[in-house]
Amino acid sequence: MEEAKTIYIAGLGLIGASLALGIKRDHPDYTILGYNRSDKSREVALERGIVDRATADFKEFAPLADVIILAVPIKQTIDFLAILAEMDLKDGVIITDAGSTKGEIVAAAEKYLTGRSVQFVGSHPMAGSHKSGAIAADVNLFENAYYIFTPTSLTKPKTLEVLKDLLSGLHARFVEIDAAEHDRVTSQISHFPHVLAASLMEQAGDYAKEHEMTNHFAAGGFRDMTRIAESEPGMWSSILLTNKEAVIGRIEDFKARLDHVTQLISQNDEDGIWNFFNRGRLTRKAMEIHKRGGVDSSYDLFVDIPDEEDVILHILELLRGTSLVNIHINEENREDINGILQISFKNEKDLNHAAKVITENTTYQVTID
Ligand code: NAD
Repeated sequence: MEEAKTIYIAGLGLIGASLALGIKRDHPDYTILGYNRSDKSREVALERGIVDRATADFKEFAPLADVIILAVPIKQTIDFLAILAEMDLKDGVIITDAGSTKGEIVAAAEKYLTGRSVQFVGSHPMAGSHKSGAIAADVNLFENAYYIFTPTSLTKPKTLEVLKDLLSGLHARFVEIDAAEHDRVTSQISHFPHVLAASLMEQAGDYAKEHEMTNHFAAGGFRDMTRIAESEPGMWSSILLTNKEAVIGRIEDFKARLDHVTQLISQNDEDGIWNFFNRGRLTRKAMEIHKRGGVDSSYDLFVDIPDEEDVILHILELLRGTSLVNIHINEENREDINGILQISFKNEKDLNHAAKVITENTTYQVTID
């Protein structure tokens, strides 16, 4: 039988506490020790059995651990690596993190830990939500999401093997990528879009001061474009500041693209504008964002529903037990057509199951996007 391990999770926020639940799911015999600075998440984590023991002193549990997971903000992760470098830890202990950018963390780990008997690999579990703290812990948070490893000079082949086994209960998809490339790719598909969403919100907010109907007319498209503007400002500030070069590169590139569209419009270049939109449409279709799990993606089902009492309740009743993540009534409808209910699922299996039960038990039109 495999030996029960001791896992130390520093930071019992959304990510740390959700990781603890995922580890317990496949390894109920492992001991999970937790550190948290504030009392609240420590108490929640203990009350709910998310961790076995908890401390407010970061150094207390580190010497007991076979695996240490740092799930605190990026700057704190780097500070904790420096502290661990000065401590007596178990021989061969595996240290990893959860930070959203990897370059600076990996560089700090190599700087502080080289020459010590420790293994280090960078990690980025690519799922999250606007919620924070242990109170928001969710054992399914990482289901189908990419769990990225960024190997370093302190990573051995068995480091990843051990971690993949430890984290099997997350039901995530493990991927390995170079830290610098991770930061470049995430600057394009995550960091820069957050800058764009916040800018768009800022622009619309200013515009609304002079044009009062702005807020009223803002509907589905605008909402989809700006949802991530509600993200936590502290976390996003540190992400931008630890991935400066890549993010600035994306911003500069985008400016040139906007200039190009401005030119097409001012020159009345109808073909050029058509091609511009068409390229965007084809590129998005080819990316199949909606068909994959991963960063904030989901599997969506659309149901045409009549404007009658209890229709939604009836549909939800049929979907009992599925991993429904969101439900939305399309608000752009005209009065003379039916409403469209958009239901999002975490995985394809539940999506297909839902389409089947709704089709079999109702007369409503069901579409899978
Ligand atoms: P959270 O706010 O829920 O939790 C952060 C944790 O760090 C808390 O336990 C808090 O007490 C602790 N903390 C904050 N500042 C500290 C300090 N100065 N000293 C000691 N402890 C401190 O945040 P989270 O969403 O769990 O994020 C944790 C890490 O995971 C971050 O590095 C973040 O970049 C990364 N991450 C977040 C998401 C997401 O969407 N939330 C996704 C992937 C990775």
